[in-house]
Amino acid sequence: MTYLDHNATAPLLGEVLEAMLPWLRGVSGNASSLHSVGRRARAAIEAARVDVGALIGGDPAGVHFCSGGTEADVWALRSAFVGRAEGSSRSTRRTLALSAVEHPAVRVTAGALRDLGVRTVDIPVDSRGRLGELEPILAAGDVRLVAVMAANNETGNLYNVASIARRAHKHGALVHSDLVQAAGKIAVDVANWQVDTAALSAHKIGGPQGVGALWVRPDHDVVALITGGGQERSLRSGTENVAGIVGFGVAARIAAANHAQEARRTAGLRDELQQRLLTELPGCVVLGDVGNRLPNTLSMAFSELAGEALVMRLDALGISVSTGSACSSGSGEPSHVLVAMGLPAWQIKGVVRFSLGATTTADDVNRAAQATIGSVRALRALSAPLTRPKETTDV
Ligand code: PLP
Repeated sequence: MTYLDHNATAPLLGEVLEAMLPWLRGVSGNASSLHSVGRRARAAIEAARVDVGALIGGDPAGVHFCSGGTEADVWALRSAFVGRAEGSSRSTRRTLALSAVEHPAVRVTAGALRDLGVRTVDIPVDSRGRLGELEPILAAGDVRLVAVMAANNETGNLYNVASIARRAHKHGALVHSDLVQAAGKIAVDVANWQVDTAALSAHKIGGPQGVGALWVRPDHDVVALITGGGQERSLRSGTENVAGIVGFGVAARIAAANHAQEARRTAGLRDELQQRLLTELPGCVVLGDVGNRLPNTLSMAFSELAGEALVMRLDALGISVSTGSACSSGSGEPSHVLVAMGLPAWQIKGVVRFSLGATTTADDVNRAAQATIGSVRALRALSAPLTRPKETTDV
């Protein structure tokens, strides 16, 4: 099997599984218990906190474990607008500025906040997915929070979070950055970037699913989304998922040690795949900010076919990739990222994302290239109705 869908979820690393197993067998201990079993669990969680903080260049005390990237995004956004003590210096500001290409964890939450009276403003992107002007939005003076991801899950586009944070802070706004796709793939430095909050997820870097963290700048406060027994410094209650957190810590440690070398390796493989497809398949286009992407991601629009059909055909050949045309709910709605980039519907229909990772080999890329070339040719022969209309122009 050739798995090229690491942006959806990465395979659990062997070292991570080994480290988690002792915490899944028998009594793992409740980290709040006073006895030695509980204290052992507490020590394991604190060690993982240090490793996760180190991966993103952040104070480990700012790492708050939770159920994943989605919860961390929702937590940061809701915390900025809901349940703030009146009298807080920014409490009168009611605007959330967010990029048009944020993950649904951010965009759908922004919609929910709108129902509570928050004003939301999209920062537009161009046809390559590059961020438009932020200054006029900030200059209006009502922005409390700017949410911009460091790397986009669909195109792989990178965003200059440090520069955004600098400008946002100048205008008195807070900054939340979704680092779910960036952490472990590129160098991340929350302290230097000066973000106020950042979302992380374990399963994108070879850790387990259902674990993540909200990193909070040390002198910044967030409100508790989940209240109860007071875990995670009273900010995220619920008995800690010790095995999951231990796995996250090990995955973070491995990613921190390997990401520079892995970035070079996966970029080489990704570029090889891209080159072969472009050479062999006329009418396919690489999407996104091609010179400024995650090293592992290739988003391609194939003309004259439906992405779903290509994904299913490749699946039958043992190759896992994602379509760019349907969102994760399987609703069949076109991707909001590609719509925001202004791609026409006929082009969005033919988008497929290849995302490489630690398990990807040159042999995988060779198999994927051969299978994709053969499948695209076969599908094109069958799919005349999806041919690009003559009057439309390229983006
Ligand atoms: N943010 C981004 C950019 C993502 O790619 C994902 C996962 O698809 C998430 C947030 C959600 O993370 P999780 O699956 O841990 O909830």
